[in-house]
Amino acid sequence: MTNLQDQVVIITGASSGIGEETAKELSSKGAKLVLAARREDRLQELANKVNDDGGHAIYKATDVTNYDEMEELAEFAQNELGQIDAIVNNAGLMPLSLLNKQKVKEWDQMIDVNIKGVLYGISAVLPHMRERKQGHIINISSVAGHVVFPGSAVYSGTKFAVRAITDGLRMEESAESKIRATIISPGAVSTELTSTITDEDVKGGVDELYEQAITPDSIARTIRYALEEPAEVTINEIVVRPTDQT
Ligand code: NDP
Repeated sequence: MTNLQDQVVIITGASSGIGEETAKELSSKGAKLVLAARREDRLQELANKVNDDGGHAIYKATDVTNYDEMEELAEFAQNELGQIDAIVNNAGLMPLSLLNKQKVKEWDQMIDVNIKGVLYGISAVLPHMRERKQGHIINISSVAGHVVFPGSAVYSGTKFAVRAITDGLRMEESAESKIRATIISPGAVSTELTSTITDEDVKGGVDELYEQAITPDSIARTIRYALEEPAEVTINEIVVRPTDQT
């Protein structure tokens, strides 16, 4: 088992939902955290809570769609905490809509955050991890990265892409540099994620689905489990969903 004590973990999208719960869960096991998202006030509040509870968290306001900011985040982690053991590329958006609504701006945002943000996160930490010949990259996909439903075409496209990118990363790096790559694919989880949906024709169905949503601590525990496996063990993917979600 990998002891998370003093392991340095970067978490993107740490200002709410799954990222925030993951920070609390990993901190309870002694991990040192680098929290990233755009809302600095939320990051500060979370870091204060973690540190007051005896943990160790620092934070940096970061937009994952900005490559320079992602590189600066990795440098910040390296300079402040001396190493990068893992990154959880968790930041994401889900403004679901039917294609005929032509919400092109929302498509662009999803592609930028959900796909490019993950790629930038990988690129920012890869040189550090390759040099040490160790590291763990966890990318958050979705059940919607396995199945498509009306309204999820673009979101699902981004989450299928996250799975493809993570599988490719594992194939390229695991034997060569011992870097582990894991996909976590949640089902419906009660967070702020659905708040960006502007298509009223999709919203009703989503609200119904989310009546069964599980709480984000369940995903946080799953991420911890994947991180705690010994270095020679890679969890390729875990799908975690509400028992009632069909
Ligand atoms: P939340 O909306 O609660 O959290 C999303 C996080 O992403 C926030 O911290 C937000 O921070 C951050 N974020 C969004 N855009 C950017 C950006 N440009 N740069 C940096 N951070 C950004 O939703 P969840 O916790 O549910 O989502 C976390 C991940 O889980 C996402 O990838 C989502 O797709 C995935 N997921 C969630 C499911 C669910 O049902 N909740 C199901 C399956 C997958 P800020 O606004 O401060 O930048």
